[in-house]
Amino acid sequence: RYGINTYNGCQFGCVYCDSRSEKYYLPTDFENEIIIKMNAAEMLDKRLTNARTLLPDIVALSGTTDPYQPAEAKFKNTRQCLEVLLKHKYPVHIITKSKLVLRDLDLLETIGKNSWATISVTISTINPKAARFLEQRVPVPQVRFNIIRTIKEKSKHIQAGVLFIPVVPYLCDADSNLEEMVKNTKESTADYILFGGGMTMRDLQAKWFLKHLKAKYPELIERYEELYQFKYNPQTYAGTYEPKKSYSINIHKKLFVLCQKYKLPYRIKRFIPNDFRKDNYLIAEKLLNEAYGLQMLGNAWSNTHWAGQNIQNLKESIVDVAKRNELQKIRNVNEGIESFIRESINL
Ligand code: SF4
Repeated sequence: RYGINTYNGCQFGCVYCDSRSEKYYLPTDFENEIIIKMNAAEMLDKRLTNARTLLPDIVALSGTTDPYQPAEAKFKNTRQCLEVLLKHKYPVHIITKSKLVLRDLDLLETIGKNSWATISVTISTINPKAARFLEQRVPVPQVRFNIIRTIKEKSKHIQAGVLFIPVVPYLCDADSNLEEMVKNTKESTADYILFGGGMTMRDLQAKWFLKHLKAKYPELIERYEELYQFKYNPQTYAGTYEPKKSYSINIHKKLFVLCQKYKLPYRIKRFIPNDFRKDNYLIAEKLLNEAYGLQMLGNAWSNTHWAGQNIQNLKESIVDVAKRNELQKIRNVNEGIESFIRESINL
């Protein structure tokens, strides 16, 4: 629900990183010019102390930067923000590629015990050569699988798994890589593997990625032109945001089969608050998971998804809404979803 970027820019500088897109207004020298938000924890504490109507809900660190990039070893912005989130009892979802996250297992374990803590380690390939091109400054894939292994060995209350996003076309989508990714994730004792959507491409990020792709894998440019419908021009990108739908659906189908084969969940256990929102979140979780499955396979999903979101955002318990016979007043809740809700809450 919430997000904190403890830094602007990211020293890891992955070649596909979406944070290079214009919409984020980040430094143009994205991986070398890192903005350290010196008073982030203090501001967060003030914000949460004064926020009378905010209810604790998941805070993601981070959307456009890695919260455990090398700068964190010195500046500890992420650790200080975690201390504040622990104080205010907020659940936390860490997304990282760095083993520095292990430094903060003490805090994350306590957050997990008090509410909910999840660490997703991003890994796109088990192939070290492809990884060197895509994520040059990041620990090699096996080190990242070991981060998960260590988290699971050392903690009882932290959920940990792999974020297999993006699946980079023609570099990470071979059947062998898909299978090795799921297999290695399972062997790392992870709780889940997340995937979904193809690699996105837009403006500055697309230009950056294609420039490097052309230098290292020129033979792939034509295939990208076909997949994202553009004609290569180093000055501008005029292709689609996502690859062709049929391409992504095909990958998702294969990954669903592999997850079944290796008995590996592809969804996270969501945070369920222990207040009036409890039933709302339990129902929303089921609807959102169902919508995800529909979307990944190219089926109509948005009504189910938005019904889940709207139920999650209710300001009262869904049980009270059901008792008043007003379930269909919630946006996107239709007859079918109403029966599902009534069955779930025995009303
Ligand atoms: S680690 Fe994440 S935020 Fe940093 S460059 Fe790579 S993809 Fe971008």
